Amino acid sequence: MKNKAQRSSYNPITDVTEEIINILKFMARCGCKGYDPSEKTIQTLDGWTVTKSGYRLESLNEIRNDLGDCRRCKLWQGRTNIVYGAGNPHARLVFVGEGPGYEEDRQGEPFVGKAGQLLTKIIEAMKLSRDQVYICNVIKCRPPGNRNPEPDEIKACFPFLKRQLDSISPEFICALGSVAANSLLEKEVFISRVRGRFFDYKGIRVMPTYHPAYLLRNPGKKRDVWEDVQKIMKIADI
Ligand code: URA
Repeated sequence: MKNKAQRSSYNPITDVTEEIINILKFMARCGCKGYDPSEKTIQTLDGWTVTKSGYRLESLNEIRNDLGDCRRCKLWQGRTNIVYGAGNPHARLVFVGEGPGYEEDRQGEPFVGKAGQLLTKIIEAMKLSRDQVYICNVIKCRPPGNRNPEPDEIKACFPFLKRQLDSISPEFICALGSVAANSLLEKEVFISRVRGRFFDYKGIRVMPTYHPAYLLRNPGKKRDVWEDVQKIMKIADI
């Protein structure tokens, strides 16, 4: 059988040119108006996958496969399950928490413990269901004793969250607590100061609010969270 180069129709220059044209068209469809060689662009391009018919965004399953039996940070040693994320792969709204707790680690599902039950109530109060939104975390493995994630753990795991968000391409992200807010806003913030206002993450509106686990300890703050999510409902026309 002739290889690609031996086939008469094969012309490497034409093929490469066609490929570049396809990529530029794809970028234009994604809203790109000029060439931006920033780190963000490089990360976005890394998130594209090559198929027989050209470039497209990776699916959540492909990203999960790439994550594999992850040992990119030390948390693998203590985990029972990787908690990847759950919900609608085309959700308009994504909730991002901090990291799995005991119950999430045991079941491999995000937000299924006590804080998760409260999150479910918040979602239902928004006239939505867990199946309509996507729920995930900044880190995917439970830290020992539920301690806060350490910077090297976030550094290893956050690129996977970014790829998940690229793939889902939601209109809104609700950042639950300061770890999610710090990571998505790319700066150290006090959740009490940033909550209730929209921020931008790659063209997606980010609403930081209190983490449901914090609400379990401070029920008086539930009213604030309700006000914050109502702002999402208003703009999203839910
Ligand atoms: N807290 C989180 O931040 N995420 C979970 O999945 C559960 C509890």
